[in-house]
Amino acid sequence: MRCQQVQKYLSAYFDGMSSPGETKYVESHLQSCASCRRELEKINQAVQVLGQLEEMEVPAGFLEELHIRLIRDKVEPWSASDYERYGRRGWTVALVSIIALGLGIWVATLIPYQDVVANINKLPQVIVQNHKR
Ligand SMILES: [Zn+2]
Repeated sequence: MRCQQVQKYLSAYFDGMSSPGETKYVESHLQSCASCRRELEKINQAVQVLGQLEEMEVPAGFLEELHIRLIRDKVEPWSASDYERYGRRGWTVALVSIIALGLGIWVATLIPYQDVVANINKLPQVIVQNHKR
């Protein structure tokens, strides 16, 4: 049987996101293929582990490795629904980071560091003086 074909659909099938045709195809294959049933069980276990991970410390490199695995196993690029689920939040986080960084740099340029270090006790006056220049 075409295990590779089935395993391509397996995670979508598990998420309930496969088309009716794919679902039928996967289910009929699963009945006759122990290897793909084990694969489905692995996905099930991985999802349960991921559910618990939110409160656990993730080992270094784990997420990268997982991401690479997900991409490799899925073969095809992100579907539109994946983009909907992860893309928007990702962009929001990136945008907020950029704004925060820009704001930090802008504020940093306003502070006269050498004066601040020399007059750490008179900090408010130093900033006021600097603005009068
Ligand atoms: Zn199979």
